[in-house]
Amino acid sequence: MSAPSRYLLANWKMHKGQDQAAAWGRAVAQALEPVPDLHVVAMPPFTALAALAAVCGRALHLGAQDVYPAAAGAFTGAIGTDQLRDVGVEYVLCGHSERRRLMGEDDGLVARKVQAILDAGMTPVVCVGEDAEERENGHADHVVRRQVAQAVEGLAAGALGRIVWAYEPVWAIGSGHPATPEQASEAAAILRSALRSRFGAQTDGQPVAVLYGGSVDAGNVAAYAGADGLDGALVGGASLDAGAFVRLVRSVASL
Ligand code: PEP
Repeated sequence: MSAPSRYLLANWKMHKGQDQAAAWGRAVAQALEPVPDLHVVAMPPFTALAALAAVCGRALHLGAQDVYPAAAGAFTGAIGTDQLRDVGVEYVLCGHSERRRLMGEDDGLVARKVQAILDAGMTPVVCVGEDAEERENGHADHVVRRQVAQAVEGLAAGALGRIVWAYEPVWAIGSGHPATPEQASEAAAILRSALRSRFGAQTDGQPVAVLYGGSVDAGNVAAYAGADGLDGALVGGASLDAGAFVRLVRSVASL
C-alpha cells in the first residue's frame, strides 16, 4: 500500500472494553475496503489495543492515545514505546488538550513524546489549538505557533515529514460547535508557517499533514477533509458507534 496522504483518526478516549473494541473493529474492518491514500486509524484505550489489533485487517490501522517518552524502564504505571510497537501501534497522539489541561502535559513533555515516538519508528499525531478565551482575545495564532514550535524543539528537520498534526481548538472539542472549515484551513496555514519559520527551506518537499478535530461527524467531515490545506480529521465522540464511523469514512473515501 502506498504512503497515506489523508487520515481519519478515531479517538475513543476512555471508552470501551475489550469485547466492545473487538466488535467495533470487526464491524468496521468488514465494512471498509482499504483506500490506498487514506489511513483509517482506531485509537482505543491501552487496555483494548490487543483486542482491536486482532481484528484490524487491511482497512484499519492501530493508534494509541498517549505514551511515556521512553522505550522501557522503571516508570511505574506508564506505557512505553516498546510496548506500543509490540502490540502493533503505528500512530500515537501527543499533546491532546485533555491531557494538557487535566494531566499537566506541557509543551516540553509533548516534545519529548514526539522524539520518543519517532525514535521508535511510529508516527506522532501532535494536537495543538487554542481555548475559547485565547480565541476571544485574539491569541489563537500565537498559541498555535507556540505549541508547534515547542513540539519540534530539538528535532532534526528531516523528521518533519514523519509527523501528523491535528488542529483541535479546545472550544470545539465535544461541544457540538466545530470550527468552520475556513477557520481550520487558516489554522493549518499558520501551523505550516510556524514550521517554515523554524526550519526555513528544510521544510520544502516534506509532506506536512494537518487534520482538523473538534465536533466532526458523518454530516460535516467531508467539508473538513476537502478544505484547503487539510488532510483529514481526528474524530472523538462520533467515532464510537461503528455504523456512524463507517458512514463518516465512506463520505471521505469517495471525495
Ligand atoms: C477529540 O477529543 O480529539 C475530538 C475531536 O473530540 P470530539 O470529536 O468529540 O469533539
